[in-house]
Amino acid sequence: MAGFTSDAILFRKIEYGDHDYIITFLTENLGKVSVMAKNAKKSVKRFQGALDPFSVMNIECTYSKTRKNALPFLMSARLEEPFAGIRTDAVKTGYASYWIEILNSYLEADKEQIELYRLLIDSLAALDKGLIAKEVLNLLFQIRFMTIAGFSPDFVCCGKCRVPIDRIREGNVVFDFKDGRFFCGKCADRTSETGIRVSKGTLKQLFWINNNGIQKAERIRFSPVSIREGEKLLEAFVPCHMGREFKSLGFLRRVRS
Ligand SMILES: [Zn+2]
Repeated sequence: MAGFTSDAILFRKIEYGDHDYIITFLTENLGKVSVMAKNAKKSVKRFQGALDPFSVMNIECTYSKTRKNALPFLMSARLEEPFAGIRTDAVKTGYASYWIEILNSYLEADKEQIELYRLLIDSLAALDKGLIAKEVLNLLFQIRFMTIAGFSPDFVCCGKCRVPIDRIREGNVVFDFKDGRFFCGKCADRTSETGIRVSKGTLKQLFWINNNGIQKAERIRFSPVSIREGEKLLEAFVPCHMGREFKSLGFLRRVRS
């Protein structure tokens, strides 16, 4: 194959020498791909200002004829959706950077992952236009990501006695982000360091948005308490299961407060 074209979202752009960039994209057709953009610092015409963070573009790449393991060359990038509303807003930038850092660390190179591509595009579009409250969108992105990645938490029954959430009398339960399960008052391990107290209502709302996706998310009303609990829960659960800290989460927390 001589090359490929695909819609893509820019993940990361690193300077390489005086003139070039190495750019990592999440592409629709090939998953995460790193490419060499020769003379991109000077060649405004070829890329038409398309190489900005968070924008969606159609890229055209070719493979090196002489070096088998060389990065593909980025020949052109045509801007399709600038999502300029994100770049001009520090808090929106914080959310978008966090989502991209999660996907960039999770995805392997050259492996198509269309569900995560769609989740990111739809989340960026909603963030750009302000269709859904940013905080709710962030909960939705994280819970959907965890489900697609196969770390789906159990919000239905107590992780030990299996009593369904609706039949638990107490208003609060303990969600253990290491186990990805919650425990009723009788079963919760009080000494666990990875348990967070949350209301049943918060878990039920997270369960609902996970199953209904972005299109219906604007219908749900999260109380300020549920937003705070959901943030605390998911922003511990995601890094714990990925086995790493996210730099962008520190930035997000600073701009958000
Ligand atoms: Zn129980």
